Amino acid sequence: MAHSAPAIVILGNGSLATARKIAQLYPGALIHGLAERVEGADRVYHEFGATLRELYQQDTPIIALCAAGIVIRTLAPLLLEKGAEPPVLAVAEDGSAVVPLLGGLGGVNVMAREIAAGLDVAAAITTSGELRFGTCLLNPPSGYALGDLELGKRFVSDLLAGEHVRIEGAAPWLAQVQLPQDPEAHLSIHVGSAERTPAANELLIYPRSVLLAVSASVADLPQAIRAALRQAQVAGQSLACLLAPVTEMANPTLREAALELGVPLRFASAASDASELARGAVPGATIIPIDANLALAIAEQPLDIAQIGRPRGRLAVIGLGPGAAELMVPAVKAELARATDVLGYETYVRMAGPFRADQVLHCTDNREEMQRARHAFELAAQGRSVIVVSSGDPGVFAMAAAVLEALHESSEPAWHSVDLEILPGVSASLATAAQAGAPLGHDFCVMSLSDNLKPWSIIEKRLDLAAEADLALAFYNPISRSRPWQLGRALEIVAQHRTPETPVVLGRDIGRPGQTLRVTTLGTLTPEQVDMRTMVLIGSSTTCTFPRAGGGEWVYTPRWYGEKPVS
Ligand code: SAH
Repeated sequence: MAHSAPAIVILGNGSLATARKIAQLYPGALIHGLAERVEGADRVYHEFGATLRELYQQDTPIIALCAAGIVIRTLAPLLLEKGAEPPVLAVAEDGSAVVPLLGGLGGVNVMAREIAAGLDVAAAITTSGELRFGTCLLNPPSGYALGDLELGKRFVSDLLAGEHVRIEGAAPWLAQVQLPQDPEAHLSIHVGSAERTPAANELLIYPRSVLLAVSASVADLPQAIRAALRQAQVAGQSLACLLAPVTEMANPTLREAALELGVPLRFASAASDASELARGAVPGATIIPIDANLALAIAEQPLDIAQIGRPRGRLAVIGLGPGAAELMVPAVKAELARATDVLGYETYVRMAGPFRADQVLHCTDNREEMQRARHAFELAAQGRSVIVVSSGDPGVFAMAAAVLEALHESSEPAWHSVDLEILPGVSASLATAAQAGAPLGHDFCVMSLSDNLKPWSIIEKRLDLAAEADLALAFYNPISRSRPWQLGRALEIVAQHRTPETPVVLGRDIGRPGQTLRVTTLGTLTPEQVDMRTMVLIGSSTTCTFPRAGGGEWVYTPRWYGEKPVS
């Protein structure tokens, strides 16, 4: 199984040198350092246990630079659950020992050997089959699938007990395994893509060597595919990918079928029928037509998917949240890991990093939003996996609307076929409000005070009406060097409807280094206290404050309006 890049988790600065050496072995690996103990980690965490368990549940390989016992105790509660089992290793902080702990079927021993080689020590491999045969029979490389795991386990223990084995069929990978081979052996390993009931003492291994071409929409596609495989007597485990014409790229049935069958979906130029499509994609393969819309291509060896057509391009418009990694939603983290291209204003792209060397960064000026949106579609239409970054939420005065506007204006079918998704983030108003208490706890109005893309007169009108309606107010883009007087004018308008005692929250660089939170009142607020990195929250007539233990004040707007309900 293919895993994401590992997380290297460290507890102190003493492990940093070893962690860096290991990180070099895995592109995309991030070093997670304990807050206030580690300087210079890629990610900061606050709680070791919670962090390790979260990584484990997300199926992220874990390399923990600490005692094996700590890792075992931390993950123990999760081990009885079925679900993810990523590789987990403990590595001595000075790099002198590498201990694979969990994830035998996820390739933990392979990782242990890689890391040990990188650190110039020996890995503590304890798996007998692997020690004896040099590889794990139960964990074939990506082009092969094991027929039956339980049977496989019995096989390995029989081999360990001294049995010999015959190999039928071609699997270059098996040739490298130091198996005790004997043409007369009664145990056999059969490699092939044909559907087959295993004979007694036979272990089946399927090469992923079969492509299924779908040239037009087919009703109940997964069912039709299973029937086609049965008809051609091909084992389902040998199916390596689905191939469809580019004109069907946005077809949800295809996407769902590929997901259900657990195989990648690729696209090629349209052909006269499915057989033609299959033939063009896998030269030299045996073509088995099923009907005009379905055909199989069966190759001798596992297919190299990257060489077949191209994938559907993806464009994700993501919100990073205010800045702190803890406030970034997991879907966005996953998207950052899969992206091939990252577009955005340089500050935000840097905030979203670090990135792997194979990820292309396209940093642009903050104002070139439409150009950036079009560039994103051009890249995604080539089959790349593109992300456009915004801070906070991408739908709040940010890139999502620009991306949709670019698509709306375009009549390019390739752009409309892109797998477009908007992934939300914690917007600055919400992050600021949370730190202050609940100033937006009742109806509120969100406004940008920037008059770059709208006339100032409409801003004044909306301010006036929102203030009159007694909504709490959240101001984005409150002031800048090119817009020096607007905030003062906005506050004058609000002051016509609110008392000078109205609570005001100023959040600057919330969730970022050097953040400040300040609670003041409308009467004492001046534009000099605000800059373009500040979020301004102005209370309604019911917003109130009270002292918080430890200093400062809580600010909240009650859920009710008018008369307090009896509770
Ligand atoms: N999409 C962003 C907003 C972009 S507009 C979001 O949803 O948060 C930019 C404005 O947002 C800034 O001028 C500032 O008013 C506010 N802002 C963005 N990040 C902030 C942060 N970390 N702290 C305080 N205000 C922030």
